[in-house]
Amino acid sequence: MVIRHVTATVRPLRAAEIAALAPYIPRVDLERVVLHLGHVPWYLPRRFCGIARGRHVYFRRGVYREGTAEGIALLAHELVHVGQYRRGMTAVDYLWSARFGYWNSRHEQAAYALEARVLAELRGRAAAREPAERENHEITGARHDEGGLQSPEIRRPAGDQRNDRTTDDGHTDHP
Ligand SMILES: [Zn+2]
Repeated sequence: MVIRHVTATVRPLRAAEIAALAPYIPRVDLERVVLHLGHVPWYLPRRFCGIARGRHVYFRRGVYREGTAEGIALLAHELVHVGQYRRGMTAVDYLWSARFGYWNSRHEQAAYALEARVLAELRGRAAAREPAERENHEITGARHDEGGLQSPEIRRPAGDQRNDRTTDDGHTDHP
C-alpha cells in the first residue's frame, strides 16, 4: 500500500490534455478533475484498471498512456463519469444503472460512445496529417511512431485497445 502511494502521481490535467479534450468535455470538468496515476481505490475489483469517483479519476499503473490517442480517449471516458457525478449521479445511482450488467448501464454507454468517438477522430486527424509528418520525419530522422498527440499509434488495429482492457469474463476493466 505504502509503496504504491510512493510511486503514484496525483495531478490536474496538463494543457495538452485539456486542449485535446476541449471539443468533447465541458471546461468545468477538465479544470476540476484530479488524476491519480498508479493507484486505485482498494475496493476496485481486479478486473477494472481505472475508475472515476466524483472529480477523481484513478488508473492502475501503466494504464494511461500519455500522448496517445488511446490515452486521450480513455480520459474522455472517465471524464464523462466525472460530469455524471457533477450533475448529481451518486455511486448508488451508478450501481443501479448497472443492475442488468455493466454494458447495460446508460452511464457506461455514454462513456464508451464518447471514448470511441474521440479515438476515431484523433486517429482520423493523425491519418490526415500523415504525408506532411512523414516528410518532416525524413528530414529530422525522427522515428515515425514516436510519442506525442501529433502521432498516435495509428497502425494499431481498432480492436486492440479494447482487448487490452477486457478480461476473459467479458468485462471491461474501467468502470
Ligand atoms: Zn466507465
